[in-house]
Amino acid sequence: MSWKTKRAGKPAWNMYVAGKWLRPHDFMEVYSPVLNGTYAYVPRATESEVEYAIKSAYKGRKEIAKMPAHKRAEMLENVAERLSAYKDEVVEHLAYEAGKPVKQGRGEFEASILRLKYASQEVEEIYGEMITGDYSPFKEDKLGIVIRQPLGTILAITPFNYPLFTAVAKVAPAIAAGNTTILKPATDTPIASYYLAKAFEEAEVPDGVLNVISGRGSEIGDLLIKSNYINGISFTGSTAVGHHIAENAGMKKLHLELGGKAPAIVLEDADLDLAAKQVTAGSLKFSGQRCDAISRVLVVSDVADELVDKVVKEAGKWKVGDPLKEKTDIGPLINPKAVEKVSGLVKDAVEKGAELLMGGKKRGNYYYPTVLDNVPLDARIAWEETFGPVIPIIRVKDEKEALKIANRSNYGLDAAVFTQNIDRAMRIALALEDGEITINAFPAHGLGIFPFGGVKDSGMGREGIKYSILEMTEVKSIVIKMRK
Ligand code: NAP
Repeated sequence: MSWKTKRAGKPAWNMYVAGKWLRPHDFMEVYSPVLNGTYAYVPRATESEVEYAIKSAYKGRKEIAKMPAHKRAEMLENVAERLSAYKDEVVEHLAYEAGKPVKQGRGEFEASILRLKYASQEVEEIYGEMITGDYSPFKEDKLGIVIRQPLGTILAITPFNYPLFTAVAKVAPAIAAGNTTILKPATDTPIASYYLAKAFEEAEVPDGVLNVISGRGSEIGDLLIKSNYINGISFTGSTAVGHHIAENAGMKKLHLELGGKAPAIVLEDADLDLAAKQVTAGSLKFSGQRCDAISRVLVVSDVADELVDKVVKEAGKWKVGDPLKEKTDIGPLINPKAVEKVSGLVKDAVEKGAELLMGGKKRGNYYYPTVLDNVPLDARIAWEETFGPVIPIIRVKDEKEALKIANRSNYGLDAAVFTQNIDRAMRIALALEDGEITINAFPAHGLGIFPFGGVKDSGMGREGIKYSILEMTEVKSIVIKMRK
């Protein structure tokens, strides 16, 4: 069976399970925010198809675990090479399905190839330790060898915003560590996952190592997360769904990368030109539809007027338009619901006293770069994840107040601090309740060179090179009693 097909004159993909392309029982539409209509079709998995995918991953787990690590590495290198051939096609699909400007889509594609290559090097990182027991009088004659073994079968659930990269960032380390995987992409942006599957097929990866199952989370999610044949779940998405998974998954190892509400603290001794550029880019890149987006600026009043002027000038440079055009910085939001949500948050802030300095406009699925000043603390946008191109500015008295507001959030994923005093920066970084603090730049998880992840409602576990692998393995201790 071919991997691609047609349905109602539009491109469609078959299902990739157990190393084969299969005709699904049903398809679902892929909506394009650019076309404001159906763009393509992907499989809408039924219960029996989900079960088949789970069994296929379960069945394949012993073979991949037994495969020597250098062969798994070679396999992932090969997948990277095969995937590279589809760059232009994938970037175009990302523009249509996600509204992602092509220059950002290219960045995502290149990062995905690199992540596959890093994973192939990471196999060297799967080592343990040897512990002598003689620091306890009761274990003097014992020696422990601590090793890391694969979990078995890993379910990777991805969000809409980085469909190729997030899939790769889960599947590649999982396989490097010797697991099989089931990938469930977001319904808004499932196409890139089928290209990943195609690269796996071409690289002749053994059957069942990667299985792609598309379908609505509300329909097939519980079947997947509750399955006893799945040993670990690596989920990236909203806090609400993360909670649902934590409550329903049972005894599985969970890695949850959830929502964020990154503050950027701008102090009176900051380089304001740098801060304005970074705050703007950190808020507007991919229309703010990033978990690591800056979504509240806490600026000390003494320098607030100056910073606000500079931010408005910077934000004015961001070009809104067709994501397929090279010069576009900001494409449409993911769907009409997202536009309504962002617009509702801005309206609420203005009603509560915030000043709208720029933007606040929508056109179809497009929402224009928006700057809000003097945002009061009772505005929803001060606390709720925005996921839109909005820069809410909250003026604070001093560093202490900034820190207090920053830490009052239920989220704890990222934060940024702008100051030219490294002692201050370090003091604040240590006190902030977030998984990653960035000093004098906007937070960007990127490839995962530095581990990232959340505290509080932003999740648990850490993603990143050398770190994701730890989430996808379990420790086994082999204790030897030595004869005297
Ligand atoms: P979402 O609505 O939570 O969806 C994420 C994934 O979960 C999708 O594949 C979705 O499938 C699936 N899902 C939905 N209900 C499910 C259920 N009951 N059981 C199992 N899976 C289910 O999130 P999103 O809107 O796609 O993405 C935006 C969110 O992701 C934001 O909150 C953002 O902060 C977060 N995010 C976090 C990070 C990080 O590193 N911390 C990175 C990127 C994004 P359907 O699409 O079919 O509903």
